[in-house]
Amino acid sequence: MIQYALVCHKGHEFESWFQNSAAYDKQVKRGLVTCPICNSAKVEKTIMAPRLAGAKKRGVAPAPVPAPAPEAAAPAQAAPAPVAMMSPQEREFRTKLKELREHLTKNADYVGQKFPEEARKMHYGEIEHRSIYGEATPDQAKELNEEGIEFHPLPVLPDERN
Ligand SMILES: [Zn+2]
Repeated sequence: MIQYALVCHKGHEFESWFQNSAAYDKQVKRGLVTCPICNSAKVEKTIMAPRLAGAKKRGVAPAPVPAPAPEAAAPAQAAPAPVAMMSPQEREFRTKLKELREHLTKNADYVGQKFPEEARKMHYGEIEHRSIYGEATPDQAKELNEEGIEFHPLPVLPDERN
């Protein structure tokens, strides 16, 4: 097993395990390796050196990665399924993320891009406190942070289609 640090064409960085470098080449070529953030299949290795399983941390076995689905089972035109690259642990983690996200969004008002404005009003006592969620640009997030306004990014699911 070999772990590669990968980056998609949008610059998201992530890591994935492969049987060997040939398996990596083959899977990337077939579009089976996708970015967990934006689902892009345009991925490549970052310059970081690959780590070999068990080379340093003895006793910490890497999670087994299920083999990609056999070709016959995969419809030719279907989008690559990121779930094929997930270990059971990762799947469980994903489920937890989803639960957390659902809990957060169920108990909060969606304010969209007004998030920074609303968060600020609450912080400065202009409106009553309530749970909200929405969107903020990295710059807005930085400003809110600098003003001491506490907020958290919503967890992003590796695959939003389910
Ligand atoms: Zn991406």
